Amino acid sequence: MHDQRSLSLPQIGAGGVRESWHDRFAESPDVLKSTRCEQTIVPVLDLEIGGDEFITMAGPCSVETEFQLMATANHVRRAGARILRGGAFKPRSSPYAFQGHGLKGLKMLARAREESGLAIVTEVMSESDVTMVAEYADILQIGTRNMENYALLEAAARSGRPVLLKRGMVATVADLLRSAQCILDYGNPNVILCERGIRTFETATRNTFDVAAIALLKQISHLPVIADPSHAAGHRDLVPALARIAVAAEADGLLVEVHPNPDKAWSDGEQSLDFDGFDEMMVSLDPYLALRRQSLSMRALEGVRAMEAFG
Ligand code: PEP
Ligand code: MN
Repeated sequence: MHDQRSLSLPQIGAGGVRESWHDRFAESPDVLKSTRCEQTIVPVLDLEIGGDEFITMAGPCSVETEFQLMATANHVRRAGARILRGGAFKPRSSPYAFQGHGLKGLKMLARAREESGLAIVTEVMSESDVTMVAEYADILQIGTRNMENYALLEAAARSGRPVLLKRGMVATVADLLRSAQCILDYGNPNVILCERGIRTFETATRNTFDVAAIALLKQISHLPVIADPSHAAGHRDLVPALARIAVAAEADGLLVEVHPNPDKAWSDGEQSLDFDGFDEMMVSLDPYLALRRQSLSMRALEGVRAMEAFG
């Protein structure tokens, strides 16, 4: 099946990835699809990221108060989210802005997991905090500003927790894949890639949502890909449309900011959905998710037919 070199141009190599992509991303060979690995499925509690289920991770930008976190956790769970997000360590551009509650925030997240049953994803900013964050979190988030912090990548990888790797705001797809390759090299196969918008000349949106990168990553890499429409858009009104686009581009899930009272949020309020907005977004995703399910089962059927044809 893979030996079609003489028949087709451009050539299709291992794992159905064009040879030209293999050349282009030669520095990160292990993140590319191969006959050995077509899709990585990252296990998180009872969930699988990168499998058939589209996984929504939702919650506030920062963990603020017990009430804010619990109310959000309970609401997003009822609306269909499977993972709770929330920052206890916040990378802020101003030293005067709220930097996060640190350990106290991690403990609040752990209580929210107990109460809601949701898994927890939270950012770790420093290699010296990795052990502590890994004790409370189910997934370690590496933020956009740290995508090339290799000491942090190594420590996060060695913690054994799944790593959600956000694309640097001026990182190319090759840069993102190189960082993912580092985590694999340090012995951790459970990497989730996250497109969260990149910096371009456009300033109307906070970042430019690189939807082509999602489609490309899904074609070439076996790692799960999730989309963060909140940081990409910077405005809550745009978040649902970007979320729908992410489903159509074949993302494996979403990372979305939700707050009980976004106008009073301690960080990223403009891009945070309120509870009604989150419900509406989730409902608006339904027909797109139905199409996704259809195409997954069609692909599975094609796979079975191809196996049968091979005898
Ligand atoms: C966040 O998820 O709140 C965050 C800080 O994201 P990013 O690193 O993409 O800016
Ligand atoms: Mn944020």
